[in-house]
Amino acid sequence: MQVQPAAHGFIAMGSWFLSAMPFILLCFLPKLYAFFRKKMAKAIQISIQLEVYQHIDELPETERYLLNRARQAASRAYAPYSNFLVGAALLTSEGKVVEGNNQENAAYPSGLCAERTALFAAGAMHPELQISMIAVSAKRRGDMYYTAANPCGACRQVIAEYQDRQHTPIRIIMEGNGEIVIANGIDSLLPFRFGQKNLLNS
Ligand SMILES: [Zn+2]
Repeated sequence: MQVQPAAHGFIAMGSWFLSAMPFILLCFLPKLYAFFRKKMAKAIQISIQLEVYQHIDELPETERYLLNRARQAASRAYAPYSNFLVGAALLTSEGKVVEGNNQENAAYPSGLCAERTALFAAGAMHPELQISMIAVSAKRRGDMYYTAANPCGACRQVIAEYQDRQHTPIRIIMEGNGEIVIANGIDSLLPFRFGQKNLLNS
């Protein structure tokens, strides 16, 4: 049987395609994989909710009292190097208030933040009690006005540890620049964090 010229060309093209297939796959497979991988990835949205007050007088009574205790603690801070006075006051479920303030050291970073000073003191003195809230206030020495007092990353991690330990959110009251911000639990300040579940459940 004689193969027609057109059919012959088609067969030749087919065999060329087959022989080139490994090369084509080698070139396009990574791109295909990346394309489908991108399609499969899902976005996670983490929402944060904060309460914002314009003045200490707007706060509920307990929060107002605790923030005033934090302000008092700030006035006793040992901060000869930074002159940045920070005070923290926490309230336990039994109604006990434990204060802390920043304790600096000439051999930096041997000092400690106000929040951790208060939390560790509470953990040492009242390990059985739950912490319901913590207030933080800061002021530069000599200033009339309070400045932003957001807990640093290390303090957030420690608050998280205490919250995980007691399985109840710790309300965090932060004095800010002309306003007071409250987070109802550390998850709003340290989302997607490393914590107890990463170690104890593994
Ligand atoms: Zn800190």
